[in-house]
Amino acid sequence: MIRMLGTQFGHFFLLEQDGEVTVIDAGLSGYRDTLEPALADMGRSIDDVKAIVLTHADPDHVGFAGELQQTHGIPVYVHRADSERTRQGKTKHAEGSPLAMLGMLKHAHSWRALRHTIANGGFKQSKVPRVIPFDDGDELEVPGRLRVIHTPGHTEGHCVFYAPFEDALFVGDAINNLDIVTGQPGAHLAPQAANTSTNQAYESLSRIEELDAHILYFGHGDPSTQGTRAIVAEARSKR
Ligand SMILES: [Zn+2]
Repeated sequence: MIRMLGTQFGHFFLLEQDGEVTVIDAGLSGYRDTLEPALADMGRSIDDVKAIVLTHADPDHVGFAGELQQTHGIPVYVHRADSERTRQGKTKHAEGSPLAMLGMLKHAHSWRALRHTIANGGFKQSKVPRVIPFDDGDELEVPGRLRVIHTPGHTEGHCVFYAPFEDALFVGDAINNLDIVTGQPGAHLAPQAANTSTNQAYESLSRIEELDAHILYFGHGDPSTQGTRAIVAEARSKR
């Protein structure tokens, strides 16, 4: 069973297998209080959460992971290349200029997203003192047995996860299913100002394209059952 939580500005997920739950990404830290009600809705509790697995180390995905580790001792997994940033709570060096970021704010959607992010703690990345690093090709020993596919570009350690029992792919921010600047729906890559390497992010699309999955879940934008090929083709066409 999969539950999508969060808001129109960003999602995180609960993946259940045999009564145990993996939290995939940990939202913005302000989403913390939505966790227990969603677990209760699934007939589960916080004690059933056995792992938090992060697609990457940006603050709108690390969210409440550190808090949950501190209060409940839940292990946090992240790719090796993003593990130091996760531990230190450090923001990445994006390739775009801060001026490009300012330019985004001429769009009403960006303003709303910015206000929402500030209100939900998105500009102070919390530290996760202990992380379990993983590598490309790993099969994680967590509920749902996620398979790791390294897709760098948005961050150095960005990964997508395939959940075999659900035939689902958690895409994180390797592809957004809306334009995060304008709010227009459809597959897009994040703007240059939000990536460590946009060229590398486009190269990583070929890794996603070769995967088969019934449904794709995105960090930003609605889920899709169009298949990886169609989604990747749409994202490439916007370049
Ligand atoms: Zn994001």
